[in-house]
Amino acid sequence: MTFDYDPQNIFARILRGEIPNKTVYENDHALAFHDIAPQAPVHVLIIPKGAYVSFDHFARDASAEEQAGFMLAVAEVCRIAGVEDGFRAIANTRKHGVQDVPHFHLHILGGRVLGPMLPRG
Ligand code: AMP
Repeated sequence: MTFDYDPQNIFARILRGEIPNKTVYENDHALAFHDIAPQAPVHVLIIPKGAYVSFDHFARDASAEEQAGFMLAVAEVCRIAGVEDGFRAIANTRKHGVQDVPHFHLHILGGRVLGPMLPRG
């Protein structure tokens, strides 16, 4: 599988500082910011700073340091967002996953009971 990264995608532009974001947390390898169209009281996106298209691309090719930095960001976002009662982590991927932005991002959703994992029917 080859992964072609588009450096003009909106999250790449956020990482370059060309588009503002509401930062929740940042470290050397990851940035977390509020989703612009929140679907729950807590809706934070966590992205790696490296050029990875998708979760499987990141899992395959990111270094151990990048992966550790990303996972630390997940922990810090959950702590900062106060999702003690639970949350959902979603990584929409390519066509079947209905991924809109082709830079790997993990949605952290919480702050209410989220209902079924997928619409039924
Ligand atoms: P996905 O369908 O998983 O690719 O989701 C992309 C997400 O990015 C959506 O939830 C959008 O609301 C969100 N989004 C798009 N542009 C921005 C932006 N400039 N700042 C924050 N979130 C954004």
